[in-house]
Amino acid sequence: MGSVDFPLLTSKIADCKYIAIVAHYNPDGDALGSALALYHYHQSKGNEVSVIVPNDFPDFLKWMPGNETVVVAEGNANLVKHLMKQADLLYIVDMNSPSRAGQQLEDKIIDSKAFKILIDHHVNPNIECDFQYSFPKASSTAQLVYEFLFKVLKNPLHALTLEMAECLYVGLITDTGSLTYSCNDPFLYTILSRLIKKGVDGEHIHRLVYDNYGASRLKLLGIALGHRLVILPEYQSAYMSLSKKDLEDNNYQIGDTEGFVNYGLSISTVDLSAIIIEREKRIKLSFRSKGNVDVRILAERYFNGGGHRNASAAYNYDTFENTIAYLEQIIKEHHDEFFLP
Ligand code: 5GP
Ligand code: MN
Repeated sequence: MGSVDFPLLTSKIADCKYIAIVAHYNPDGDALGSALALYHYHQSKGNEVSVIVPNDFPDFLKWMPGNETVVVAEGNANLVKHLMKQADLLYIVDMNSPSRAGQQLEDKIIDSKAFKILIDHHVNPNIECDFQYSFPKASSTAQLVYEFLFKVLKNPLHALTLEMAECLYVGLITDTGSLTYSCNDPFLYTILSRLIKKGVDGEHIHRLVYDNYGASRLKLLGIALGHRLVILPEYQSAYMSLSKKDLEDNNYQIGDTEGFVNYGLSISTVDLSAIIIEREKRIKLSFRSKGNVDVRILAERYFNGGGHRNASAAYNYDTFENTIAYLEQIIKEHHDEFFLP
């Protein structure tokens, strides 16, 4: 990152008027925070800006400044087509492949004639772009957006608004598990300090993001931990599974199972934790790990998914029961491939 200057890029962006910002499927705090921070910046420049996400996002993010303007592609095909066609600048944030934007947006990203800028922290970016601001070591895409605002967009610190600061704060906090992983970069704390100085209320945001669920989440957590947890002590691994029936019986709401997978890691002897959730038409798997256990390898090699070393995910298209059996088999037989020394 260093102190590189991007004068051509800076003036190219300044010449653009219609801005579209797309983020990944199942948008999380980092995806929305990054996209909305850019949204507020371009709004302040008088641009016509839209944030487009493939599908809806959880209620605990529905307070974020600007969230009400976000266009959800599912159910808004005509509007999305128009916005993507009109855009002369397209930001792609928090994803490394157009396929992460889901069926409806994937082709539109690839075919877009706009000037394309990728801002992301996943390894092996595979998106044809005019400019890639891709740093897999960064804590979050929000951290990269913060840098991009200063280095490329030349937005001085005094012009950072509270709205932008709140959006970036959510990205930084959610992608580091409230500063429990990917959190050893001193600059991360410099940014947080500057955001707090701008007026961000960290305590209030914590409540909005983490203490904003209905009872359904706790009921599901009780079932997951009390009845659906399997520990494989010889393999330093644990997994939970929730069936479609579990979700339906407990009035599941979007976002309810967010974070469940982390509980496995609270066991001192467990270095790999997984959760398997039966969704409509497919099975979602989430993986988390400690230290050198690389769950991206597991997700990529055996489930065609991806992510980061310590946080990855994938979808499987077999039955729920077969997926559970397959995961257990992979952990037992291929343990050494992702438990790195
Ligand atoms: P989560 O378990 O929170 O859904 O996802 C963990 C991480 O895995 C995300 O931050 C993202 O980097 C990655 N990820 C999530 N879903 C997918 C997916 O369907 N495909 C790929 N390649 N990566 C994913
Ligand atoms: Mn991210």
